[in-house]
Amino acid sequence: MTPDEGQHKSDAGARGVRRCGRVLKGIPVSAGVAIGRITTVEAADLHVIARVIPEDERDAEVERFRRAIGEVTEEIRDIRDAMADELGDEGAAIFDAQLMILQDPLVIETTENDIRKVGRNAEFTFRQNVLRVLETFDSMQDGLFKERAADIRDVTQRVLRRLVGAGAGRESLTPVHDSILAARELTPSNTVALGGGAFLGLVTERGGTTSHVAIMARARQIPAVMGIRKLKGHIKPGTRAILDGWRGCLILDPSPEEVERYELVRSHYAALRQQLGQLRELPSITEDGREVHLHANIELPLEVESCKKNGASGVGLFRTEFFFVQRSKLPTEEEQFEAYRNVVREMAPKPVTIRTMDLGGDKFASYIGADREKNPFLGLRGIRFLLGHEEIFRSQLRAILRASSEGAVRILFPMLSTVEELWQAKGLLQSERERLQAEGVRFDPHIPLGAMIETPAAVFMSDVLAKECDFFSIGSNDLTQYALAVDRTNAKLGYLFNPLHPSVLRAIRETVQAAHREGRWVSLCGEMAADPLATALLVGLGIDDLSMSPAMIPEVKQIIRSITLDEAHDIATRAVRLSTSDEVVDLIKEFMRERFADLFEVKGW
Ligand code: PEP
Ligand code: MG
Repeated sequence: MTPDEGQHKSDAGARGVRRCGRVLKGIPVSAGVAIGRITTVEAADLHVIARVIPEDERDAEVERFRRAIGEVTEEIRDIRDAMADELGDEGAAIFDAQLMILQDPLVIETTENDIRKVGRNAEFTFRQNVLRVLETFDSMQDGLFKERAADIRDVTQRVLRRLVGAGAGRESLTPVHDSILAARELTPSNTVALGGGAFLGLVTERGGTTSHVAIMARARQIPAVMGIRKLKGHIKPGTRAILDGWRGCLILDPSPEEVERYELVRSHYAALRQQLGQLRELPSITEDGREVHLHANIELPLEVESCKKNGASGVGLFRTEFFFVQRSKLPTEEEQFEAYRNVVREMAPKPVTIRTMDLGGDKFASYIGADREKNPFLGLRGIRFLLGHEEIFRSQLRAILRASSEGAVRILFPMLSTVEELWQAKGLLQSERERLQAEGVRFDPHIPLGAMIETPAAVFMSDVLAKECDFFSIGSNDLTQYALAVDRTNAKLGYLFNPLHPSVLRAIRETVQAAHREGRWVSLCGEMAADPLATALLVGLGIDDLSMSPAMIPEVKQIIRSITLDEAHDIATRAVRLSTSDEVVDLIKEFMRERFADLFEVKGW
């Protein structure tokens, strides 16, 4: 369904309820359900007037501008420290990005020069320059660049407030405790005010999964949906709404039936959370004793907390891109080492699978200066990027190796399409090992090495790749994208993007068989791992580990503990012979309907 198609009345609902309310579709960025009334916040753009500054006053005007920048720098440093206390260094790093903007010569030096040359006041000149930068960002297709624009706007407002004397200090958001906060865009400064249950949920027009606000929402477990087109045109303050942070939709003026359904969903998850203590300690085994490890996907070191709370038996995918894209310059080996080591220490003795950075595709770090490509998903991404930027790759490998002395580390290489890439990556790893050894630095000499299976080429060559590594991790998001030739970010093709398509299932089967023949284990770490409809199927296909968002672990564990391996095999054998995704879904539902009647009720299947 396209986002627009999602915005109509009376459609068959996201959870199988006859809809009365209007459904707005967006991107699910933080899981959970919120039911309440909408509160809106306006990004109050300050009114800036142009004034002519006589030549003999221009130096003083530049001084005034510098003073404002200095004061805002102090202000942001204070916020940064407060956030570090609450969310740790990584959460606070968001504000480092803002501090970098205040030192960016493109904006600061240009403004100073323009004040002197053109002779307009500081606020007007500064705003002009920022708008120019923002125009470039807004014209970029890439989500990440757009998301960074929020940081720039945030800092700009702070500086302008100082310059026009509109008061300083933190941007305040008055908490309205039982409401869902709706805004065109929320800034990192806004999110400072989101702690302590200030709002039930967040919904915005701008922003996406990797925006700072999304990261903060996840860290604070506030359900959130972003990227709803023309949101402000659809909502009014006080409107009743349901926010579904699992599916990424906002239901306006819900019917009593819908509210009832979502209350059920909410109480189901509340009950699951209640049982968590008990579930956390229980193994993830089928009724007949087959163990399937449930690991967690994380992007930030602070998510380790959630891994522990939800009973993850390790980190199955530590995405390290966050570390590179949230800053204005490359992280040093030392910075990386500390971040990896903290996670490894916290999780020990459980394993932590660190994926070397998967830049490219929809994730970019502007400072690396990678060329814009026509087809970024088919371009210089993952291992291709790393092999083309050897020094960056080597420094990450060294940081990971060093962290391995503190616990059980595994290394995972993303986006492989040829065995040569794996050979080269292993070659670089080996040379860094030798270097560290020569320097007397400690590391684990037996770190298991994994290949991500995300391209059809990797699937077809999985027998060859299996001989060259210790394990596979199937990236079902990309595997679906490349198997079905469907851009995973294109909402118009959402109907085609389905990991339950038999082509994807066959690819998984072939991969698992090739790995098992060589005695290798196979993990699956895409979103499919968290889909309760896929659980029995994946167990039946022989997957050894599933890695998912930590919050989903209890639900998947419950399913695994209620099925037998024979049943799972049977489902998988039948599913791979089917012709369409719909037939696969029907088959699974038929299997689950009786046994998981509660889940059916909750999910509205
Ligand atoms: C995947 O492709 O399934 C995966 C886990 O990697 P990412 O989503 O980071 O590309
Ligand atoms: Mg991937």
